[in-house]
Amino acid sequence: MSKRVAFHTLGCKLNYSETSSISADFVARGYQVVPLGAEAELIVINTCTVTENADAECRKIVRRGLKGAPDAAVVVTGCYAQLQPEDVASIDGVRAVFGTAEKSGIADLADEILSWDTPQIHTSDLSEDTSFVGSATAEGDSRTRAFLKLQDGCDYTCTFCTIPLARGPARAMEFERIAEAIDGLVRDGFHEIVLSGINLGEYKAPSGERFADVVRLIDVLQPPVRVRISSIEPNTLSNEIIDLVANSTVFVPHFHVPLQSGSVEILKRMRRRYNPEKYQQVAQRIFERMPHAALGIDVIVGFPGETDDLFEESWRFLESIPFTYLHVFTYSERENTPAASYADVVPMSVRKARTARLRAFSEQRRAEHHARNVGSTRIVIPETFDAQSGTWSGWTENYVRVAMHAPELIVRGPHRVALTEVHADVVAATSLGHVARTPQVQV
Ligand code: SF4
Repeated sequence: MSKRVAFHTLGCKLNYSETSSISADFVARGYQVVPLGAEAELIVINTCTVTENADAECRKIVRRGLKGAPDAAVVVTGCYAQLQPEDVASIDGVRAVFGTAEKSGIADLADEILSWDTPQIHTSDLSEDTSFVGSATAEGDSRTRAFLKLQDGCDYTCTFCTIPLARGPARAMEFERIAEAIDGLVRDGFHEIVLSGINLGEYKAPSGERFADVVRLIDVLQPPVRVRISSIEPNTLSNEIIDLVANSTVFVPHFHVPLQSGSVEILKRMRRRYNPEKYQQVAQRIFERMPHAALGIDVIVGFPGETDDLFEESWRFLESIPFTYLHVFTYSERENTPAASYADVVPMSVRKARTARLRAFSEQRRAEHHARNVGSTRIVIPETFDAQSGTWSGWTENYVRVAMHAPELIVRGPHRVALTEVHADVVAATSLGHVARTPQVQV
């Protein structure tokens, strides 16, 4: 019988994409992948450090895995393993700890790990790491959307962030490999590719190409899929990139641009590389060129020094931006970051109250985005079918979640749809038929 391995991933899309590659390496070595909690010889946990309470989270997953497979060897990797290897190694049942740079070699050592009887730590200093390990993954088990990792690490010094410590300096996939990577995902049957990275806008190929060159290349390639850009820093989202997306039939009009705060003072304290004025210019360009675009924004609330007045300044700035939705993060102190020792700590109750206010604001804007899109024709890629309502759910190119009335047996590729009315947090849509090949962006 083949050996079995179970995986669990915490954190960002990049982690999911990397777990998927590790899993493929295990399969290539004859392992069978089973769900966490099933009987297995090995359990691999890919951790995150952004997760609040990474330690408790990691212990919980180890326990859950061992419940169904008490003799399994547990391997913990990822950002938390990189930053706190000894703590991780002390968790009952953990047999190996692999750092960020060692992650991609776990499958090579799988049989050896099974023979280790004391926990072993494999980590290295990432400050000089220049290697890039690419990966691509599907979301859940669907074949709709794939995340393609083009960039890793970050050279910025935002005062709240541990990612540069956990993932090392910025590096990128070779420019020459991009066309082949896209082609592979098209052949695998995906309909949408999300370009991902830790600081994607800082993409710099060993041969010198920048992110605008990547967008131009993919647009020229005209793959028969639609392409989304994941989170991109405002200081790196140039007019050139916005214009390329606006003129493209491949890239969709959806941007996710972290702001973190709309207060000049707080942005300085966070050591972000832009001010509200710069952000305003980026947003203005997006909507001038693509009035129907979706804009998502990350905001951190309760950063040290965020007085009521500064929060109101941030709120007013957000009101001036026609964003579509917010991802609101309640600030929490991270070990080894400058902000963890800042004075003027905001009480947790205030942080939570501000978070709730902004989340309500986000819901309001999302509802307005949905209402604005009623009456338009868009492209949707059906993802899951709900037999009870007889609808397929999916996303339009400009990030409207739709419930599409259509039979269960339809072509799973892009459909042209008419958006008819808002139903709670989705928009009802009628299929106007499958679109043969290129998912043209509808204006
Ligand atoms: S840009 Fe700032 S927040 Fe983003 S990964 Fe780099 S240091 Fe962290």
